[in-house]
Amino acid sequence: MVRCRLCGRAATVRLRYANLSLCKEHFIKFFERRVLRSINRYGMFRRGDRVAVAVSGGKDSVVLLQVLYDLSERIGIEVVGLTIDLGIAGYSNAYLEVAKRHYERLSIPYRVIRLRDYGFTVDELVGIRRNVCSACGVIKRYLLNRAAREEGADVLATGHSMDDFLSVLLQAYIRGDLETLAKLSPKLPKADGLVARVKPLVETPERDVLAYALLRELEYVEEECPYAKGATSVEYKMILNSLEDRHPGIKFQMLRAFMSRIQPALKTEKKGFLRRCEECGEPSSRNVCQFCRLRKLVTGEAGKHLSSNPVSGM
Ligand code: SF4
Ligand code: ZN
Ligand code: ZN
Repeated sequence: MVRCRLCGRAATVRLRYANLSLCKEHFIKFFERRVLRSINRYGMFRRGDRVAVAVSGGKDSVVLLQVLYDLSERIGIEVVGLTIDLGIAGYSNAYLEVAKRHYERLSIPYRVIRLRDYGFTVDELVGIRRNVCSACGVIKRYLLNRAAREEGADVLATGHSMDDFLSVLLQAYIRGDLETLAKLSPKLPKADGLVARVKPLVETPERDVLAYALLRELEYVEEECPYAKGATSVEYKMILNSLEDRHPGIKFQMLRAFMSRIQPALKTEKKGFLRRCEECGEPSSRNVCQFCRLRKLVTGEAGKHLSSNPVSGM
């Protein structure tokens, strides 16, 4: 029997990258301490911050919500939830319901943002945009930033794990996309119209997130988005995991090398000049922001200063 290194009871989780076996209780503590360390290392929150947590209903965001809720008193933050209904048939509703159940269980105020209130859905982008996921990413960033700002949040926290971070890193590297690499960071400061963004799970491998969700018996939606199959990010994660299986710890090494050596060297990479979108007034690097261009692709119409949808549960 493999024993927990800390208490000698039967081990539940084996972390090959750290050559460490832990029982349920010690894994949960280990996991939470590591998230807290990431929060402190990157100065993600200040006492008194109102933190908007983006919750899809998938395991990563559900775990993030739970951990930030548990830490909230200790680190002096106030947590509010944001969930987007992307309008993906047979998928969005299940996610929405799970997110709502968590908000209600923890008595966290929340807001649901419906893309169809802006005149279109992700389903309607199919056939119009070849890469639905990249369009969806634009939509999520836009709606989350806007809602977080409107809710008076100081920081927007997302459930991106180490694997998400490294998959973006690899893709950007292969494309030679220096702008994405320069902006790829566990913490992006506040800018004109943009709420500060943080990724508290950046030093947490996705497999550990899954183990934590299971051990704490957190409800999450397992079903994948119908558009995820063709997503290159899924393939990159598989490549990263097969590397990790052969070289335990290599993902941590990649993250550390990027943050300590590569990222600082990219700081001078020219950033897009931030102005305001002519259609909606949100921050944009061009005259019309990417969100409004997507909306016009589907609806064929401009939407001058669209107001956002009403608050629910807030
Ligand atoms: Fe959006 Fe793609 Fe994720 Fe589906 S898999 S939610 S389309 S980014
Ligand atoms: Zn133990
Ligand atoms: Zn716009």
